Amino acid sequence: MSREQKAVDRARKAFLTGRSKSLEYRITQLKNLLRFVRERQNEITEGLKKDLGRSEGGTLYETLGLESEINLAVKYLKEWAAPRPVSKSMMTISDQVYIQPEPLGVVLVIGAWNYPWAVTIGPLIGAIAAGNAAVIKPSEVSSHTSKVMEDFLPLYLDKELYPVVTGGLTETQELLKQRFDHIFYTGNGTVAKIIMEAAAKHLTPTTLELGGKSPCYIDNNCDLAIACRRIAWGKYSNCGQTCIAPDYILCDPSMQDRVIEEIKKNIKDFYTEDPQKCLDYGHIINHRHFRRLMALLEGSTVAVGGENDESLCYIGPTVLRDVKPDAKVMQEEIFGPLLPILTVSSADEAIKFINQREKPLALYIFTSDNKLIKRMIAETSSGGVVANDCLMHFSVSSLPFGGVGNSGMGHYHGKYGFDNLSHLRGCLIKQLKMEGVNKMRYPPHTADKLGW
Ligand code: NAD
Repeated sequence: MSREQKAVDRARKAFLTGRSKSLEYRITQLKNLLRFVRERQNEITEGLKKDLGRSEGGTLYETLGLESEINLAVKYLKEWAAPRPVSKSMMTISDQVYIQPEPLGVVLVIGAWNYPWAVTIGPLIGAIAAGNAAVIKPSEVSSHTSKVMEDFLPLYLDKELYPVVTGGLTETQELLKQRFDHIFYTGNGTVAKIIMEAAAKHLTPTTLELGGKSPCYIDNNCDLAIACRRIAWGKYSNCGQTCIAPDYILCDPSMQDRVIEEIKKNIKDFYTEDPQKCLDYGHIINHRHFRRLMALLEGSTVAVGGENDESLCYIGPTVLRDVKPDAKVMQEEIFGPLLPILTVSSADEAIKFINQREKPLALYIFTSDNKLIKRMIAETSSGGVVANDCLMHFSVSSLPFGGVGNSGMGHYHGKYGFDNLSHLRGCLIKQLKMEGVNKMRYPPHTADKLGW
């Protein structure tokens, strides 16, 4: 039996003991997870520094988000897990009619490397809260972080219910042969298809948190200084390796020069004249991604940045001007610090441009015109939408986070994570009384009985 199969078997056995069904047990595990995040902050920071060149502040941004999700689950678990009464009809007026959330069983969580804690431990919070066992498979690409998870999580969590399985392709393929009750995958769309295929063999439901090209429309009616500050922050945080980073800008041709100037000014304010030396900037995850990004630059005009150093996996914050829709950089999700600007002559043209492409994970709209915001929301589709800011919807636990179409399926955060990894069981409890009212439904359906 392989290591992966053993881990899944042990998790299944542990689940079948029923201990994860107890709310007290779930809360204890969640509190242990919180303790892990707090007590192992140094190891987490060190891992992210090695993997992504992330600063201490950047790490805190990720772990504080986890802390708040755990605290929310601990606070509301009793409420989320309680029976949910639903409306009754004349037929069920004297019955109990309610929804009972129940755990699904063993969940496989496969994480990505860019915010490895948020996208691996984030789904785990929902899995624990919902009473499941969970096999945790961190990304091998962020290898230092993966090692921190492997070494330290078992010191805090029930290691039979929540085993960490590390490894790359071979290990993941072995895991995917096993039977799970849900697979929660974060990563790219190509692998997502492999995940769905493996899941189909066991009729396992999947949540797919994917990416795509998230557009950012800047309207003429807009405070450009503020808009560009927020866009520069959203784009260049984590070196652009953020699933919901604004992928490209759409704006009127008359605004392009000012947008470039404002973004350039903010790059300097955030990361100094020499971002390579700035602790808050970081680097590209590996040489493969460095080369992929450099190849995307081909054929485009660099307006800001473009500096790079392959030996350090460094690419400076970059803006590209007058980019055409058929440019290389517009053919795939960028997932790096390159920001193309494409010009459109109106909001209508921007809407058309967005709708002609795959549904993005996020849509950003910058304008002071509230009617335009509502119109763009009504006339487009995306996983989430933010007006006049970037990325911030990820941290609002009362909003579902997830994609639509090519950007994914299913969602999580807060109660949505709990519901996503629960079965919402419909319960109808009747009494063995009042049999008279049922007469009509039993055959023979004579005219007399039906009152004809
Ligand atoms: P990755 O390379 O870390 O892969 C993700 C996971 O898939 C890893 O655990 C890896 O082991 C596994 N994997 C890779 N190849 C596999 C295969 N052939 N079979 C089975 N499993 C395999 O991450 P990535 O795909 O480079 O991640 C980047 C993508 O993830 C981007 O598109 C980004 O937008 C998206 N993303 C989405 C979210 C979200 O919440 N929607 C968050 C982060 C990243």
